[in-house]
Amino acid sequence: MTSHSTDLHDLSVTALAARLRDRQVSAVETAEHFLARAKAHQHLGAYVALNEEATLTQARAADAQLAAGKAGALTGVPIAHKDIFVTRAFPTTAGSKMLAGYQSPFDATVVTRLADAGAVTLGKLNCDEFAMGSANENSAVAPVGFDAPAPVRNPWDLSRVPGGSSGGSAVAVAARLAPAVTGTDTGGSIRQPASFCGITGIKPTYGRASRYGMIAFASSLDQAGPMARSAEDCALLLSEMCGPDPDRDSTSLDRPAENFSAALNEGIAGLRIGIPAEFFGDGLAPDVRAAVDAALQEYVKLGATLVPIQLPRTELSIPVYYILAPAEASSNLSRFDGVKFGHRAKDYTDLVDMYKKTRAEGFGDEVKRRIMIGAYVLSEGYYDAYYLQAQKIRRMIADDFQAAFQHCDVIAGPAAPTVAWQLGGKSDPLANYLADIYTLPASLAGLPGMSLPAGFGEGGMPVGLQLIGNYFREGQLLSAAHRFQQATDFHLRQPAGMTQ
Ligand code: GLN
Repeated sequence: MTSHSTDLHDLSVTALAARLRDRQVSAVETAEHFLARAKAHQHLGAYVALNEEATLTQARAADAQLAAGKAGALTGVPIAHKDIFVTRAFPTTAGSKMLAGYQSPFDATVVTRLADAGAVTLGKLNCDEFAMGSANENSAVAPVGFDAPAPVRNPWDLSRVPGGSSGGSAVAVAARLAPAVTGTDTGGSIRQPASFCGITGIKPTYGRASRYGMIAFASSLDQAGPMARSAEDCALLLSEMCGPDPDRDSTSLDRPAENFSAALNEGIAGLRIGIPAEFFGDGLAPDVRAAVDAALQEYVKLGATLVPIQLPRTELSIPVYYILAPAEASSNLSRFDGVKFGHRAKDYTDLVDMYKKTRAEGFGDEVKRRIMIGAYVLSEGYYDAYYLQAQKIRRMIADDFQAAFQHCDVIAGPAAPTVAWQLGGKSDPLANYLADIYTLPASLAGLPGMSLPAGFGEGGMPVGLQLIGNYFREGQLLSAAHRFQQATDFHLRQPAGMTQ
């Protein structure tokens, strides 16, 4: 390795792409550097699959492109994917025993788009089973280097959770085991782990990024997005990930991909930031509140104005989400029946017995809980009382946002009520659900939302600032975040002990 290698993991995606283009470093050298790092820090449990051969083959192809002067925006930049995106070169598990040994015959659209932009795939990242969870403690898959499932550890404090469900993704970026990664967000799974691990992540407007090849949890909520250290890097990735996919995802929107990087330097002066009273109530931990308040004051210094707003149905977003998401999950997960995919029970008497045993063995407790809740709220006699009511309130929540956007350009608040908690610290499922309160409203409304590092709280743990924009205003969110990151260095801080 050349002398460049030692600091490759400290470079932003933007800087790394430039070095690759200038041929100061090769794609193979870069891939080898990150593969070595992934292995050296495998105790964090971030990766669930590596395939050196496949990665280096892609890197050699990137080097050929670079040599031919045909570089795309990300040529030679290594990226890792949440293990909810199907990939041909790596197994895909969605964190479930149900998909042990599953090998997809195709790549997810998001994976293809990033590959088309020249990205090299480093591997697959741990996540909660079928993306259900807030702590990454629901994964049934053994991380690389482990024989059995093991928790993903937060690099800022190894005794704490990384957040979920994109926990492996957030850890890979925070520990600099990948310059950038993909995640998915159904009810907060990009924003909350980004907040817990001190990185930046954005969930675009629902329908911006294709869901084709993203293993479905709750189809009306699931969205893919990038996670990286900075908003500038997220902009680069998001520009490549978005765009219509009409033949493969009927909910993908007919909006051309935008160059979000070009919009990064919009000014803050005059930006009206809505502050929802409901995001600053009793449940918000004082340390998180202090960091978020300080970040908002930084925005005021940059020329923004803070406007008090109301999102009166914020609390209802928890019961609404935990009716609708399980309802959709119960339907989506019915395809895992032991016939078409993955796991099948060994001993059974007849077809029904095979279904029962396969699903009992293949799914973990949280997934079973959601399937049962979902089947219940969709069943005759309860559908009107639960599912339909929840749909109606979902619409009201979306309307509340539109009323708020009459008075402000973006909405800001905490991404989560606390910093990352201890591993095993929230064994009660309900306690996990309640912690999603600040991310669920934007998910239910289909609005873009992001989290960016805003400071530190209890135990020196990172605190994320959430920004929510109106539909298709990802560019505005990213530029607001970029301006903040030009004035602060929270996104550049490293967990102690991760300097190597
Ligand atoms: N924590 C939420 C849940 O458990 C959100 C998960 C997600 O966004 N995928 O459902």
